[in-house]
Amino acid sequence: MNDTTTTPPGHHPLWPSLTAPRDQGRDDTCAVSAHGVRVRFADGRELLDGSSGLWNTNIGYGNEAIAAAAAEALREASYLSVFRYENTHARRAAEALVEAAGPDHYGRVLFSTSGGAANDLVMKVARHYHALRDEPRRKVVVGLRGSYHGLTFGSFALTGDDLGQQLYGVDQRFVRHVAPNDPAELNALMARQGAQIAAVVVEPVLGSGAVPLTEEYLAELLRLRREHGFLLVADEVATGFGRTGSLFASQQWAEQPDLLVSSKGLTNGTSAAAVVIASRQVAQAFTDAGAMLTHGETQAGTPVTCATITATLDEMRRLDAVALGRRLAQRLDTELDALVAGHPRVAATTGLGCFRSVRLCDPDGTPFPQDQVHALVRAIRDAGAIVHPGVNGIQLFPALTYTDAELTELLAAVTAGLDLHLARTA
Ligand code: PLP
Repeated sequence: MNDTTTTPPGHHPLWPSLTAPRDQGRDDTCAVSAHGVRVRFADGRELLDGSSGLWNTNIGYGNEAIAAAAAEALREASYLSVFRYENTHARRAAEALVEAAGPDHYGRVLFSTSGGAANDLVMKVARHYHALRDEPRRKVVVGLRGSYHGLTFGSFALTGDDLGQQLYGVDQRFVRHVAPNDPAELNALMARQGAQIAAVVVEPVLGSGAVPLTEEYLAELLRLRREHGFLLVADEVATGFGRTGSLFASQQWAEQPDLLVSSKGLTNGTSAAAVVIASRQVAQAFTDAGAMLTHGETQAGTPVTCATITATLDEMRRLDAVALGRRLAQRLDTELDALVAGHPRVAATTGLGCFRSVRLCDPDGTPFPQDQVHALVRAIRDAGAIVHPGVNGIQLFPALTYTDAELTELLAAVTAGLDLHLARTA
């Protein structure tokens, strides 16, 4: 392995989270700059990014139009808020988002600063909505087992495992988790507690393992919503902005969610931004009741953030990025199928569009050991590409703007990295 540690672990003032101390302070994982789909590191290497940052730089790094819009907004007003006052930049971004999400269904946009914070907000909106309709008992929020919704106290509780509870005593008493794609468990919960359920929150494709919700499960979710009156929330933090063949994955559903959470691709990774897009019906309940939502984040909906949202939507349209993503996905389908057929250690691929997981196996077919996944990711880095760990393998989230040559290069680095890892551990 490339051993370019320059600072002893734990000695640099930068304290990176979700990173083991032995992996901190290294120049080969300390990025300096990024352009197109490549990231340059402090050790001088330039790597092909197969993860679009953290699945957010969907149209590549260094988009000039977004940078220009951000600079202009900063010059016009370095700061303006969206509570107690409004600002025209936020109004423009909200209009553009409702227009893009579907103005027949969606009505209003709330601003937040991260996917996790927006999921906290969405749970407050759902409870408040029911309270306004004389159903204050509806407080329970349902999530899917294995889901990921963030690591704030609220979103960590909703995230579909008990890690938050174990590590930090996160209170999960208001949440119920059911198995994804298993209508039986959801039906049983509804039969027991239907009248107490404020919302069901789902990722259209579970990030962990890139597992898409099945059509049957979605149909059942929509039927249960009609029967039991909960709000259906699509957490599109990762699936949004063209990842899965449409601007939002839920636009492919037969009926739209009541609340849609977006972040990541929303600003192409340029600002700490997230939004909750509320249906007309949900928004109207607050207007009719004259109800004020008790939520506020100082840095939400600022001019620079909103300019990056509006410019990202404009650039996605100009580049026809959703169509580019659909085309790239077709190539990914072909290439990944060939990898499964041609490499004895590649077991399967899952996912939708440009949101993929590659599952690996041992020669006898047993799943690739999870405790080796980080070493595998390092080997793929040594072979020239950035990918993130997945379930028994890796995740692939290339930018929608990838060229054919870049995709070929990415898959070659993945294969070379896998072979390198196997040679190192032989
Ligand atoms: N929801 C989903 C589906 C995500 O994939 C993520 C991040 O990966 C989050 C929420 C949390 O977003 P953030 O890291 O901005 O808090």
